[in-house]
Parts: sequence; structure tokens; C-alpha cells
Amino acid sequence: MSISENIRAIKTELSDKVTLVAVSKTKSNEDILEAYNTGHRIFGENKVQEMTQKWETLPKDIQWHMIGHVQRNKVKYMAPFVSLIHGVDSLRLLVEIDKQAQKCDRTVPCLLQIHIAEEETKFGLDSQELEALLVAPEFKALKNVAITGLMGMATFTDNEAQVRKEFKNLKAIFDATKKQLPALEVLSMGMSGDYQIAIEEGSNMVRIGSSIFGSRNYN
Ligand SMILES: *Cc1c(COP(=O)(O)O)cnc(C)c1O
Repeated sequence: MSISENIRAIKTELSDKVTLVAVSKTKSNEDILEAYNTGHRIFGENKVQEMTQKWETLPKDIQWHMIGHVQRNKVKYMAPFVSLIHGVDSLRLLVEIDKQAQKCDRTVPCLLQIHIAEEETKFGLDSQELEALLVAPEFKALKNVAITGLMGMATFTDNEAQVRKEFKNLKAIFDATKKQLPALEVLSMGMSGDYQIAIEEGSNMVRIGSSIFGSRNYN
């Protein structure tokens, strides 16, 4: 199937309570425009430089989501335009986003990334780190970032029960955190291989790449 057929099929399948982020990392402007021409406007990238180049050359009504791990020295490049940063997992990064957003006279929406997978390698805060962050004075002093939700990635495994358990855990953390931060609305969980399970467990934002654009060639 073509990109436009894939994206239409997935959008038909998703309820209108679930936001689709079309993950276009490594894909060409031409591929992105094929998805764009179906009416889709939300795209996700995992490298700041690649996202910035695409923002410069593609239609300006695209909403760019940063879904990858962010280095603090790269924040300034995306601060003028990024519409949601999914992978925020430290106070130092939040402070930098706040500073760069202020320079651009805007508020940048961010999701806190929570570590739910068994793998050691995945980024994210554990429950204790989240708790410590939420009560830190520097967190309360942030002015130009808006924490609008949480994001997480399940273990990369065929074991559906494990994936489901990890998503359930993130939903429980989301519900508990919302009591402290009532502005939390977004629960970003689910990718091509596991988004149906994620939605059953309460996701309202899915990040789907290969099921739309086909497999990626990494360099
Ligand atoms: C690449 C990526 C995705 C999309 O992965 P697919 O399996 O291609 O759907 C989702 N989330 C993050 C954080 C990613 O890096």
C-alpha cells in the first residue's frame, strides 16, 4: 500500500480521541508531502537537525513533534517552532527549554518521558525521579514550558502481556500525576508494533512510523 493509503487506513481505525503522530524520521520531504496531502498535519522526528531542515522546507502549517532524546545544546534550534517535545526526562533539560522558549516569546508544550520498559537502555524518569522533579523549586519556577502529559515506550518484545503491563503502569502513573498537575491531558504511548494495546490501556497519542512510511534505512 502507498503512504496515503496507509495513513488513511490507520486514521479510520483510530477513534477521534486518539491523536496520530506520523513519525517521518529518515523519510524524504516527498514522502511527508504524500501524507500531508491526505490532510495530515502532525509529524514526529527524533533528530533536531533533521526536523529543523524539514520545517524550513515544508509547509508551515505542519505541527512538528520532537519524539527523540534531546540534547540541551540543540534546544535553541527547535524552540521557535516545535509544537510538542515528547522526550523530556530531566530538570536541566526543562530549564533549557524554558530559557529558549522565553527568547522566542512562546510557551513550549512538553511531555515527561517515563521509563516503563525492562530494558536499561531506554531513556526516561522512574517514579521516584518523577516525584522529585514535580516538587523541585526549579520546576515550579518554569514559565515558558507547559507540561501537558507523559510519554513512554514499552519493551521491544513479542510478549504482549509484558507490553500491556508496562502500558498499564504508565497509565497508572499518568492518573496519579494528574492529581498533582491537573493540566495533564496527553498520554503518548504506542508505536507501529504495539499501538492497539497502548490504546486499550489508555493512550490518547500514538507515534506511528513504519506502518505509514514503510521500514527505515538507518545509516
Ligand atoms: C521511531 C519512533 C517511533 C515510531 O516507530 P515505528 O515502530 O516505526 O512506528 C515512535 N516513537 C519513538 C520515540 C520513535 O523513536
